[in-house]
Amino acid sequence: MMSCGSGARLGRSPRTRGRPTFLETLPTPPQPLPRFAVNIAPPDLSPWLTDHGGIPGIIHREGAQPGPHVVLTSLIHGNEYAGAVVLDRLLREDIRPARGRLSLVFANPQAFARFDPDNPVASRFVEEDMNRLWCRQVLSGPRRSVELDRARAILPVIESADILMDLHSMLWPGTPLILAGRMESGRRLAAMIGDPRLIVSDHGHQSGPRLIDFERFSAPGSPAAACLLEAGAHWNKDTVEATDHAVRALLRHSGLLPADEAAPLPPPRHMMVTDIVTAQTPRFRFVRPFRGGEVIRRRGTLLAQDGPDEIRTPYPDCMLVMPNLRPGLGQTAVRLATVVPESVPPTP
Ligand SMILES: [Zn+2]
Repeated sequence: MMSCGSGARLGRSPRTRGRPTFLETLPTPPQPLPRFAVNIAPPDLSPWLTDHGGIPGIIHREGAQPGPHVVLTSLIHGNEYAGAVVLDRLLREDIRPARGRLSLVFANPQAFARFDPDNPVASRFVEEDMNRLWCRQVLSGPRRSVELDRARAILPVIESADILMDLHSMLWPGTPLILAGRMESGRRLAAMIGDPRLIVSDHGHQSGPRLIDFERFSAPGSPAAACLLEAGAHWNKDTVEATDHAVRALLRHSGLLPADEAAPLPPPRHMMVTDIVTAQTPRFRFVRPFRGGEVIRRRGTLLAQDGPDEIRTPYPDCMLVMPNLRPGLGQTAVRLATVVPESVPPTP
């Protein structure tokens, strides 16, 4: 079983320890966040959040033929509603899978209900990050929070999923990608979806396991697979369309929707996270506003200063995965990824 709080650093350290100068020992005020433009309106989810006799905020659609149970989760982070826009769209289209079972999940409606375009980052969660608590010990333990209570409520659907895609978006600009977690099954699923093309395998966050890291998808021999879509910037129209493409590709390739005649996409690009750079001082500063998915050619390129420490690329062709341009103390500032040379085998 996966322990709570897994993480990994597999490569040469990107950090060079320095000595703090007198100035660096002085306290600094945190850097304010810029104002983020909100270019998509929050969807009206009221038809789906009422009690249908099942779990509120989860809608099931059954196919006539047997097939896999596909679960699409949105709003694990309450302010990332591009995925919820797409699920709402599918429901308004009255989507009916040809086979299997489709479950559409609005995971944290309480956080979503607090969305405020004047402070759009505030409604990520109510009490705690809902994507850091997917561990049996925590879910079965005595602790309670808005997010834990809701995770326990939706757990029966998660535990019966054969295929799960968790729909997210990014605060800072970056290339859309699919996080495949640490399992080969996640990589295969991401490769099967094929859109977006960038697949990033990783070992999660030290602060707790994500939904895709849950034992249902990560226990050895489990037939279920999960991946996480990071479809682009949170409140951009392009992010909604990228999510729509990925969701429909998943539904076609899993047989729930008819296959299309479109030309095959180019093979995916597979990267592996080797290092998690955490801000160890409140003075962490990138040397410039890097973009997620940017590849730094030269080994040893200065990325950031963290108090007295320098952060440099530990190898050539180093990809920056979702840099957080204003990391707070102890937060992940960036993850570094290297290309996986072998191609992902196609899924039959
Ligand atoms: Zn998210």
